This record gives sequence, C-alpha cells and structure tokens, in this order.
Amino acid sequence: MKKNIAVIRGDGIGPEIVNEAIAVLDAVAALYGHTFTYTDVDMGGAAYDKWGDPLPQEMLQRCLDSDSVLLGAVGGPKWDGVPGDKRPEKGLLRLRAGMGVYSNNRPAKIWPQLAAASPLKREVVDKGIDFIIVRELIGGIYFGEHRTVEENGQRRGIDTMTYTESEIRRIGRIGFETARKRGKRLCSVEKSNVLDCSRLWKAVMHDLAKEYPDVELSDMLVDNCAMQIVKDPAQFDVIVTENMFGDILSDEASMITGSIGMIPSSSLGDGTRGLYEPIHGSAPDIAGKDLADPIGTILSAAMMLRFSFDLPAEADCIERAVSAVLDAGCRTADIADGGPHIGCREMGRRIRENLTKG
Ligand code: NAD
Repeated sequence: MKKNIAVIRGDGIGPEIVNEAIAVLDAVAALYGHTFTYTDVDMGGAAYDKWGDPLPQEMLQRCLDSDSVLLGAVGGPKWDGVPGDKRPEKGLLRLRAGMGVYSNNRPAKIWPQLAAASPLKREVVDKGIDFIIVRELIGGIYFGEHRTVEENGQRRGIDTMTYTESEIRRIGRIGFETARKRGKRLCSVEKSNVLDCSRLWKAVMHDLAKEYPDVELSDMLVDNCAMQIVKDPAQFDVIVTENMFGDILSDEASMITGSIGMIPSSSLGDGTRGLYEPIHGSAPDIAGKDLADPIGTILSAAMMLRFSFDLPAEADCIERAVSAVLDAGCRTADIADGGPHIGCREMGRRIRENLTKG
C-alpha cells in the first residue's frame, strides 16, 4: 500500500516525538511491504515565525491533499505575546475546521505494566481498561447561541444546545464503525431523562443500530457514565457522546490512565483522512532535552494505520512493540516514577527493535 502522510512537527517537543513516530512508521512499512511518503507542513509557532501565519493556506492544502495528517503539538510561551488570530493554537483550530473533522476519538487504556500510575484501585485496574470515547466536536452547546441579558435587575446567562438529526447520524456512524473495528460494543451516552437533544440523540442511535447488527448498542445517562468510568471502566469498549459530555468524560478517562505522554487521539470527518496527534501539548519545559515520551505520538500513528488506512495487523504490531518495551522495563522520565529512565530517541529505537509480524 502507498500512502502520503502530511507531517506537522510543530513546536516544543513536537519535532522530537514526531521523528520517532515516522521512524516507527518506516520500520512497519519495511516489515509489511508498504510505502509511506511524507509531506512537511508548517503549523503553529514554527509557521508564524516563518510565514507570519500559524497555518498558511498552502500548508492547509498540503494536509487536504494527503491521505492523513500526523501532528506533534503546537504552542509555547515564545508566542504568548502574538495577536489572538496569529496564535499557534489558532492554526490547529483552522486545521480542524479546514479538514472538516467532526469527531474526536480518544482511547483510555491502562497498560498493565503501568497500572500503579493509575489513581484507581488496583482491583478495578486489573479487570483491564481499554476503551475509546468518540466525541462530537463541532456541534452542541459549544457552538450554540451564547448571550447574557439583563432581566429584573440581574444578569441571565443563556447558552443554547442544538443538534440536528444529520449531525447526530454522522457522529453515530463513526461510533458504530469504531466499535466494528474493536470489540463491537457501543455505549451511547446522553441525558435523555431531561434534554430534548438527548432524546433525539437516543432515537437516531437506535435507528442507526439497524444498519450495524454486528454491533451491540447500549444507552447510558451521562451522570451514570461519569460514575461508571471510575467504578467499572472495564465494561466499556466504545462510548459515543455529544460535544460537552465528551469534553468532560474524555478528560476524566485520560486521568484514570495515569500518563499524559502515552495517550493518542484521532479526529475524523467524512472519508478516511484523519488528524492524528497525542493529547498532550508541546511541553516547552522539556523541549530539546531528549526527555519527551514519544509513545502517545507513536500510538497516534498506529491509530492512523487502523482507522484511516485499514491496516489493523500493522497497528497491532506497533501496539505489541510498545507493550514489549514496557514489559522489558523501559521507561521515559514521565512514567519512570523516579526510577531509571531512557530518552525519547532511545524509547523510539527500542520500540522499532520490537516490531514483529504477529
Ligand atoms: P503540556 O501537555 O504541554 O504539558 C503538561 C505537562 O506534561 C508538562 O510538565 C510536560 O512536560 C508534560 N508532558 C506533556 N507531554 C509529555 C510527553 N510526551 N512526555 C513527557 N512529559 C510530557 O501542557 P501545557 O504545559 O499546559 O501546554 C504547553 C503548550 O502546549 C501551550 O502553549 C499550550 O497551548 C500547548 N498545547 C498544545 C496542544 C496541541 O498542540 N494539541 C494541546 C495542549 C496544549
């Protein structure tokens, strides 16, 4: 298979972690007989410094012309003083909008080797935690009407939540398709005991379920879901939910895993092209010191293989290699718990060494 990947190294630790992910992709390509080519894209602070714009149109076009996009991270204190519309993070918002990605997918996985880093009780962790939250990204209350009115001598804040059937249907499809590529269980999370948007959400999900007879659909109220994520997270395979609920639940879910440096994510729209990036930022405090954990970015590359290129064996191969280096006791500083640790480059090298066909 031949694929072209747009690569945004970005700022801070971005270049270090992306270089390791590319080296892993090349090693997987060699092992399985694929060809991955890369197109460099400037975005964020690096693009502002070079072009005076955090995402020049030509750079966005390079992403739109690619088969998928791999991103490190953008931003940092160096650009704190630049005008709002030129800030590095604006580049990322424009990239998401330009690519039309309406779904953010974040896995919450506790690697057994790092179970001690989770704030959850050991008996909860030991049941095995490995699920994905599929969050609607460009609708709902965050994109509704926001205003504050003066009323009877006091201010009233008003935010409006709306969802159309088609907005729900397209994110629902991502949920079902994701479940189909994993454990085939989808939990739809809403607040249908109170909200009309949620009643519509639930109805559309059940309608869609008829097209996915191989996926088992369940419903859960969001307040119960927040409890279940800490009480019994092993029950989940894929959760699909609207924007605000997903924002809150995905942060809760990333906390239970214990390490910000290891969590990948994908953002998807129509078609197969996605945006893949670790959930952390540019970590300016450790940039350039070979201290960054590249695993979140390497696992983002694995998600790209699974969800955009339909290469599950190759994605499994990367995840097995990560597991093997953790088994061997290799740790970057963020997951070493004060013990001995290796650098970003060495972690990448060890993961490449452990890539084997299943
Ligand atoms: P951060 O995620 O960059 O860092 C938080 C802490 O986690 C730091 O101590 C950092 O050293 C550590 N950390 C993060 N990733 C790590 C890794 N891979 N390995 C080891 N340690 C890691 O969050 P922040 O400090 O709040 O933000 C720094 C900059 O990143 C800001 O400019 C922010 O706007 C930007 N940011 C960018 C993105 C993105 O590009 N998607 C996301 C979040 C923040």
